[in-house]
Amino acid sequence: MKLATTAKRALGEALGQAKQRSTRQREHVFAVLLDKRDHPTADEVYARARTTMPTISLATVYNCLETLVSCGLVRQVNIEREPSRYCPNLREHAHFHDLRSGRVLDIDVPTDLITGLKRLLPAGYEAEHIELSFRGKAPTSKA
Ligand SMILES: [Zn+2]
Repeated sequence: MKLATTAKRALGEALGQAKQRSTRQREHVFAVLLDKRDHPTADEVYARARTTMPTISLATVYNCLETLVSCGLVRQVNIEREPSRYCPNLREHAHFHDLRSGRVLDIDVPTDLITGLKRLLPAGYEAEHIELSFRGKAPTSKA
């Protein structure tokens, strides 16, 4: 799987700032995440990554995911009692966990709403990040 030039640049910059270098495996795992933005688990990323890089190991995939999360390119999404999922969408957004299908969807959150939520904090508190998640049922598709 090939990484688009802009994504490759973003990866190189983010890794560089974290004093890490870009490797073929990191590029590959990032490309897998960008290719299908359905919040896969590490096991799912591993299965996808192997189709075009059969030599990659699960441990390497875990390490790559950890690096991508630590350098801020990917968000780790935790849902109660479920394995972590990974999301390359860096805009402020909420997640909708569809209890029927198990899917996790991105829900855009307007900036003014985020600003409003941050105003709820007592004086002196500063939020670096807000995690918003919904649990419920998405409409069943008629397709
Ligand atoms: Zn997401």
